[in-house]
Amino acid sequence: MRSWTDTILIDFGAYRDIPPMNLKPLLDAESARARMADIQLPMKAMEARVEGNRCLYCFDAPCINACPTGIDVPSFIRKIADGNEVGAARTILQANILGASCARVCPTKVLCEGACVLHDRDEKPIEIGRLQRFATDFVNERGIRVLRPPSVKSGKRVAVVGSGPAGLGCAAELAQLGYQVTIFERAAQPGGLNTYGIAYYKMKPPISLAEAELVKDLGVEIRCGVEVGRDVTGEELQRDFDAVFVGIGLGSGNWLGIPGENLPEVLDALVFIEAIHRDPLHEVPVGHQVVVIGGGNTAIDAAVQAAKLGARRVTLVYRRSKSEMSAYEFECDKAKDEGVHFVFNAVIVGIVEANGHVVGVRLAQSSGGNEQTLECDMVLKAVGQEKQVEVMRRIFPTVKMSERGTVDRDPLSGATNIAHVFVGGDCANGGREVVNAVGEGKKAAHGIHQFLAGKTAELAIQSSRLGVAGAATGSGLHRPIRSHELEEEWKKTHG
Ligand SMILES: Cc1cc2nc3c(=O)[nH]c(=O)nc-3n(C[C@H](O)[C@H](O)[C@H](O)COP(=O)(O)OP(=O)(O)OC[C@H]3O[C@@H](n4cnc5c(N)ncnc54)[C@H](O)[C@@H]3O)c2cc1C
Ligand code: SF4
Repeated sequence: MRSWTDTILIDFGAYRDIPPMNLKPLLDAESARARMADIQLPMKAMEARVEGNRCLYCFDAPCINACPTGIDVPSFIRKIADGNEVGAARTILQANILGASCARVCPTKVLCEGACVLHDRDEKPIEIGRLQRFATDFVNERGIRVLRPPSVKSGKRVAVVGSGPAGLGCAAELAQLGYQVTIFERAAQPGGLNTYGIAYYKMKPPISLAEAELVKDLGVEIRCGVEVGRDVTGEELQRDFDAVFVGIGLGSGNWLGIPGENLPEVLDALVFIEAIHRDPLHEVPVGHQVVVIGGGNTAIDAAVQAAKLGARRVTLVYRRSKSEMSAYEFECDKAKDEGVHFVFNAVIVGIVEANGHVVGVRLAQSSGGNEQTLECDMVLKAVGQEKQVEVMRRIFPTVKMSERGTVDRDPLSGATNIAHVFVGGDCANGGREVVNAVGEGKKAAHGIHQFLAGKTAELAIQSSRLGVAGAATGSGLHRPIRSHELEEEWKKTHG
């Protein structure tokens, strides 16, 4: 059998019999719901306790270093093993207000679970993500509020622009430090990509919306439908608030600049994914034969969701080799399981149309030549998102941007060249993961506290860090480290 990692030479004859057609939904409501069900199953109470009891509760646990929000992982797992689910949820949410969504969407294989010492014993790592989901679901489903705003207020006001993971992470931390926080959000609902962009089979929007409610419970006001730079100016924010945090993420998808790109069945992958989150699943139009362009996680997500929504053939075309894809290996495996075909070292040079509709794409080898036509009735582009240079300049004309199109900032405090303006998340790091955005929002909250109160924020004591040099600062919050980098780091520090 041909490996999916091979560059596939397309057998056009195999699916030439499928007639090109205008797009319409392909599944009924029940099938669509079933196919888009969560791929990660929740744990039952007994399963969670048994799994929790496998944890070695390491001193100086590497999983804490590998979590960009520095959750005290052994401590919350111990609490689950002891039947203290509420305490476990408190430990998680104190460190990461988006603990429920991170439990579902974090690439745990390269973060906390990848760092688990059980790998060294050739044992299965602890299922940290699912345990985290178990504890946070426990309190969410019962409406138990584990975090409370402090009674002592600072009397200072902070504006947060954007209610994605970075904005919510920053706002929750500031609220717990006693600040009055107002979030300005352009979209109709809060949550950013967590609500509109994460693959539907990983997480459903209500989880993200419930997290925004948690933030509101801390006293944060969220004003949706307000675009900063249009409805409110940067000047007004600077005048009315003591500090401003900007977490506006990235812009819309990049253009390819090829003929036929404006045809109705050529969509930005983000637009397709957003429709899945906004409209009933059985009303989302999908092609029978879908071509996805790109080699990152968004391309994989779009391909898998198109396949799950009934596309008979999904082909992912990437201009470089398999090993150069930025998508995670385990995400690619998921696509392969869903029947997605991969074409490497090929570029789309044009879209073929008939009567104003897509009927194919013209493919060429990346090295040039050997042009072929691949039939399809839908094209999804996942070739990166625009940077926010123009938007940032419109809001804060003097803000310093990097050559990469990201906002220049101190990575530890989120501080920019404008004294009271701080940034974090995708607009500052160029696009990483939900957990990085939350961690950066949280660090910026500490930076804002340092700026406004002139002192370092006192973090909750992490019991698993007692005795560890630097205590909470020894966690992944301050210096997140990928699991594969831990060994290198250990060699450096231990000679
Ligand atoms: C398709 C896709 C799938 C992904 N899947 C995963 C995954 O499985 N796991 C994972 O960990 N990460 C995933 N990510 C990455 C993750 O979603 C982002 O890293 C994260 O959402 C970044 O958070 P943020 O707050 O910086 O930005 P965003 O989530 O983009 O939030 C920015 C918010 O700011 C608002 N905004 C923008 N401009 C303005 C303005 N002028 N005024 C007011 N509000 C404004 C936007 O409406 C938005 O709500 C995925 C990303 C994409 C695109
Ligand atoms: S990396 Fe994600 S799943 Fe792992 S401990 Fe941190 S927030 Fe939880």
